[in-house]
Amino acid sequence: IALPEAIFGHRANSRGVEFGDRRSLDDFLAARNRAKLIGLDAKCAVPGLASNPVDIRSPVDGSVVGRSHHLTAEGATKLMDEAKRHVVAAEKVPAKTRAAALRKAADIMESRRGQLMAVLAAEGGKTVEDALAEIREAEDFCRFYADETERLFAQPTPLPGPTGEENRLRYRSRGVAVAISPWNFPLAIFIGQVAAALAAGNVVVAKPAEQTPLVAELAVAILKEAGFARDSLFLAPGDGETGAALVSHPATAVVAFTGSTETAFAINRALAARNAPIAPLIAETGGINALIVDATALPEQVADDVVTSAFRSAGQRCSALRLLFVQEDVADRMLEMIAGAAAELTVGNPKDVSTDVGPVIDAEQKRMLDEHMAMMQRTQRIRFAGTLPEGLPAGGQWVAPAIVELARAEALEREVFGPILHVVRWKAGELAKVCDAVEATGYGLTLGIHSRIDETIRFVSERLAVGNIYVNRNMIGAIVGSQPFGGSALSGTGPKAGGPNYVVRFGREQVISTNT
Ligand code: GLU
Repeated sequence: IALPEAIFGHRANSRGVEFGDRRSLDDFLAARNRAKLIGLDAKCAVPGLASNPVDIRSPVDGSVVGRSHHLTAEGATKLMDEAKRHVVAAEKVPAKTRAAALRKAADIMESRRGQLMAVLAAEGGKTVEDALAEIREAEDFCRFYADETERLFAQPTPLPGPTGEENRLRYRSRGVAVAISPWNFPLAIFIGQVAAALAAGNVVVAKPAEQTPLVAELAVAILKEAGFARDSLFLAPGDGETGAALVSHPATAVVAFTGSTETAFAINRALAARNAPIAPLIAETGGINALIVDATALPEQVADDVVTSAFRSAGQRCSALRLLFVQEDVADRMLEMIAGAAAELTVGNPKDVSTDVGPVIDAEQKRMLDEHMAMMQRTQRIRFAGTLPEGLPAGGQWVAPAIVELARAEALEREVFGPILHVVRWKAGELAKVCDAVEATGYGLTLGIHSRIDETIRFVSERLAVGNIYVNRNMIGAIVGSQPFGGSALSGTGPKAGGPNYVVRFGREQVISTNT
């Protein structure tokens, strides 16, 4: 079977926007099915650090797919002491050499997509489509940041000055960068943070999410195979205690974090409490992302884009649509079409190519989603409740897609990270009120607008302080280099991942002024 374009789409990378490869889906699936998953182990390579073994269970069936050696706070502190010793050596590696290693890592990932897909499915519950898109995004990050390090770090930028004076701006590494990544993109976001920090010449200590350390272990091995020195990148498997010890350490010179807003606050506090050099935090957190649909929107396209934005990846993207505002005049018809499209989704085992929605990540997430739905059933109107097909593996974390109609937008009090869409109706002439409601969430990540009125699009985009606005299309799957990703307010600090200001944030600026 030739892969449909929807799976590969286009990608932006060091070679610009181009169409993806056309290897057959059968090739990928065969490689995935051949991949060995036995004995996967995520471990910090530094010997003698205190750690606790923890089984990693698949969200698909609850089986043990590998083991993580979670660093204790003491182990994490010792690791930081060790990382610090290699800062000078890491920066000595020329930017061009770092860029070449990143490009090689992208090529290796491309050649190992089958194995990466297998691990992403087993450990993260990723569908075929999601796993492939994620691996390609990881490759794109490596290639894009390779270009960035050559653009910025490989040579100084000359600056103006009077005759007889030479001014040059150089980018240097900061020292030890701590990267803390989430389970929802356990490869792409893990490697995106790490690649940018390495591109800037830092020593990197990378803590994957506690649910998904196995693919991170593979990613670290790939980066080392591609040429990064053993002592320039350390995997730090662990939980919240591990992360807290890493960010509290005085050697931490910059932190990249993707995860919850609460944890970003905690990291900020930990960094502020240190009697150590002031370290910036690059945080990418959540969102209560809205899509505003008016009466001029194309219904079929709205239905397709809503279902993609709310339910793909089981709604486990921080970009995902949470709050749909539909203009009253078209609401009944639109909602019927959206529910019809949602009913077509197949919830199932990620190993089946036809699966659209895989499991959610773990029992804790499932419990939170089930509780939320129970509360919605009591207090709001359920427009659509999907069903789970027979024969799903027992022990899997299955949550059926659902659509809830809210009496008021405020009824959604927090980000609900799963396949549950909330809908609110609005009346003609009340666009400003809709914007108020979106603003009142306090978040500012993604926003969708479906309208054929330019003034509506202009008004909403001007009014709302969000990071990524999608007009008359779906609102997920930002492309590296084309759609730099990230928000503001409760959604994060910026700079945007996959954008022109990201890698520089991992470096420090130095100006040399010479009297010639
Ligand atoms: N960059 C992803 C997207 O555009 C979302 C990243 C995330 O969920 O953290 O869909």
